[in-house]
Amino acid sequence: MTTAPADTAPKPSSNFLRQIVEHDLADGRYAQRRFAGTPGDAAHHAAGPVDAAKIRTRFPPEPNGYLHIGHAKSITLNFGLAAEHGGVCHLRFDDTNPEKEEQEYVDAILDAVKWLGFDWHAGGVSHLYYASSYFDFMYRAAEALIVAGLAYVDEQSADEMRHNRGDFGHAGTDSPFRTRTPAENLARFRAMRAGELADGAAVLRAKLDMASANINLRDPALYRIKHAEHHNTGNAWCIYPMYAYAHPIEDALEGITHSICTLEFEDQRPWYDWLLDTLCTLGLLAQPRPHQYEFARLNVSYVITSKRKLKQLVDEHIVDGWDDPRMPTIVGLRRRGYTPEAIRLLCERAGTSKAGGWTDYASLDAALREDLEGKAARAMAVVDPVRLKLTNWAEVFGSTDFREPCHAPANPHRPELAPRAFSLGSEVWIERDDFAETPPKGFFRLFPGNKVRLKYGVVIECTGCEKDASGAITAVTARVVPDTKSGTPGADAVKVKGTITWVGVHDAIAAELRLYDRLFTEAQPDAGGKDFKAALNPHSKTVASGFVEPSLAGARPDDKFQFERHGYFVADRIDHTAGAPVFNRIAGLKDSWGK
Ligand code: ATP
Ligand code: MG
Repeated sequence: MTTAPADTAPKPSSNFLRQIVEHDLADGRYAQRRFAGTPGDAAHHAAGPVDAAKIRTRFPPEPNGYLHIGHAKSITLNFGLAAEHGGVCHLRFDDTNPEKEEQEYVDAILDAVKWLGFDWHAGGVSHLYYASSYFDFMYRAAEALIVAGLAYVDEQSADEMRHNRGDFGHAGTDSPFRTRTPAENLARFRAMRAGELADGAAVLRAKLDMASANINLRDPALYRIKHAEHHNTGNAWCIYPMYAYAHPIEDALEGITHSICTLEFEDQRPWYDWLLDTLCTLGLLAQPRPHQYEFARLNVSYVITSKRKLKQLVDEHIVDGWDDPRMPTIVGLRRRGYTPEAIRLLCERAGTSKAGGWTDYASLDAALREDLEGKAARAMAVVDPVRLKLTNWAEVFGSTDFREPCHAPANPHRPELAPRAFSLGSEVWIERDDFAETPPKGFFRLFPGNKVRLKYGVVIECTGCEKDASGAITAVTARVVPDTKSGTPGADAVKVKGTITWVGVHDAIAAELRLYDRLFTEAQPDAGGKDFKAALNPHSKTVASGFVEPSLAGARPDDKFQFERHGYFVADRIDHTAGAPVFNRIAGLKDSWGK
């Protein structure tokens, strides 16, 4: 794993996939490959021109849930490799399973890919595809395999099939249906398609080798019967291709060169190769055909990336929905305030290799800080407010209602931006823990007799506090030290060890501040099949009623800020309004404040 220095833009580092692509380009492996402009079979592409795209990759989600940070890795990898090498990346919905797929997910996936900054259009052509639009070809290819004596309809029961498959130590046993003639198989397969057989009554299998050491080659299933409506093809089909059969064909029809997947598909590669080589030999698919490469999936600590488990969190109302800011979904990360730049940076830095590993969640926060440090406007906010009364205000400034104008840079890295303006009055909100009646060792903020600076304002000297009948502190009191206004001559004559943030009671904006923390208390909450719900962090969400400075009056949903001392916040993209502001904490600041 290569880590780019924090102060320079990340340069793509080499990895084995980039090397494979570069090697293939140098060799001209795909240079003569034809592409007819749209997906299709061998004849279709043969009639087209040499492909202008040097390579083709694809991101192939199944529309059965929301994308998560692991998918972001696959997206950045596939779109990135294509972009870096004069290629094109397709977005393909792997929608061959009729039951679990929904339009809601399709829309969310399109949105997520776009938001991450990628585009499936190339040269004005949309490369958005649906595996279900290849059902006709898949069926034709299945019949061709049957005719060639390479596939048969198996009518063993599911139990028999499972039993006869054998296991790692034991060879499988041939099905009694394996010796059917091509004519018989064709008739039975057509009966399957015609709806004459019930769900589960038969499957079409490839005829390979029931004794293969690779269980994936023990006559894998190609088609199953499912009388189910499909979101794209309606009731046109009652048989559906298996993923392992469909996926290689989808790649080949689309002219994909490098089919990149995660390591769990490594054992499928011999099958991938067999199927495509066979269909090429039968003249159905164009050559050169795609090749599959596997890399280790992205694992991020304190995060789970299984759609099924994430769905459980939503269904059981453990989180507030797919876009809950604690969710590692793209919609969740977005609502939390993470930027596409930060997510892409994390994915690049996590590296691409065959060796699995864990990426620390802290790297995502680090990437976010790097992105926002130079961009986000600063603001002061008080999360846990207590009133501070400046008891000599009228004496120093002539009137209790006097307001001392203050200015602060919008972002110290962007001097071209207009400074923020707010004002200091006789009462301000400060953080409750900025005051201590009896200061612990090393405490430099407010305690009786101590002087601090109100940031961008004046130096004050603490005189004590007010309490209610129960002894709870209701206000802190202090006196202004005259002639100490920041930016005026002699302001630094009075030395202080502490500076505190504040907002004026007269011009503060009340805001809901949602403070998010990790959803889990364990770094690998679902490792080894553990019950991830046992590791839920009960304090992953805290809602505070605080105040923010008046420069935030114009904040719009999705706007990001650095709240001085507290960290990075975003105006919630769903709930924030000018009348009822809501800010989510994205991540804390690297340096702890208040030294
Ligand atoms: P899940 O296990 O969460 O359901 P999936 O792999 O089944 O995920 P798909 O929709 O099939 O979800 O994934 C689309 C693509 O994203 C696949 O190519 C898959 O390999 C890749 N992908 C999924 N999770 C990760 C991950 N953690 N790291 C890298 N790539 C991933
Ligand atoms: Mg999958």
